[in-house]
Amino acid sequence: MSKKGRVFSGARPTGRQHLGNYLGAIQNYVALQDTYDCIYCIVDIHALTTVESTADLKDNTYEMALDWLAAGIRPDESIVFVQSHVPQVMELHTLLSMVTPLGKLTDLPTFKEKIRQNPNNVNYGLVGYPVLMTADIVLYKAEAVPVGVDQAPHLEFARETVRSFNFRYNTNVLIEPQAVHTETPKVIGIDGKEKMSKSLDNHIELAATPEETTARVMQMGTDPARVLRTDPGNPDVCNVFSMHKIFSSAEEVDMVNVECRRAGIGCVDCKKLFAKNLNAHLEPFRAKRAEIAQNPQQVWDILHDGGKRARAIAEGVMGEVRAAIGLPE
Ligand code: SF4
Repeated sequence: MSKKGRVFSGARPTGRQHLGNYLGAIQNYVALQDTYDCIYCIVDIHALTTVESTADLKDNTYEMALDWLAAGIRPDESIVFVQSHVPQVMELHTLLSMVTPLGKLTDLPTFKEKIRQNPNNVNYGLVGYPVLMTADIVLYKAEAVPVGVDQAPHLEFARETVRSFNFRYNTNVLIEPQAVHTETPKVIGIDGKEKMSKSLDNHIELAATPEETTARVMQMGTDPARVLRTDPGNPDVCNVFSMHKIFSSAEEVDMVNVECRRAGIGCVDCKKLFAKNLNAHLEPFRAKRAEIAQNPQQVWDILHDGGKRARAIAEGVMGEVRAAIGLPE
């Protein structure tokens, strides 16, 4: 079956992935492979805009790639690589920065949010972050980018930058990427309050053992109004129930929905059921992860091969870009 076109997506090297990463991105990455030629990039240069220490950068890159592969990214079909292995992206970033008004970057809500988070490290790279992100996408002439609602402004920025470049140099060498809208549910952490995140330590790691996973599930916040076992609960406000809807059978979801409301099931048993189903779901992932991890070099070989394939595309596009600008050969 011929595929629709090329998809690009990048993610920062955050090490071992958690359930939020899985439901919000990795599952989509895997599914998109059936319809698109996919390029998945571990954006280590982007990480430098906010990361203070690079001591874990290599390990985090490896662990993330390992999780992607174990989850079903197919490296013989898709290109999986590390951003810094394709230096052409830095060149394109510089060239695109010449057609980008500074005010447009500093007006972006995401920039303002980053300043708030990192008031003592407002570096030049942080301002230019969306330009580098645009370069990531257009360097491979990606037609489509999977985006959740919160990333839509960045894609629009990329599309405008492409139009500015093509207009300035009277060319059509760069193409405007389209959004592929994907299901990206906001996954709440085990605290039952904040979005699941490693930095808040409210996450469930995909690679955790079944025992560790069960222990984390048992810590999950539930309906705060349900204090006693005999109190009826409200599954509509309970994060455990949200997870049941993803990982449990329709019958089990119906059962929890009914029994919780009449105190027929306690939260401990309800969580045990979810933990059992989650562990069953993750079992094939864990087995594949363990198998790949026996030969760590295999992961680096895959990333290096991906980098080689990505560079081949990138160099071809950069040749067109340099010619369009009129740079001396
Ligand atoms: S029984 Fe289940 S759905 Fe109901 S409050 Fe407890 S954990 Fe949540």
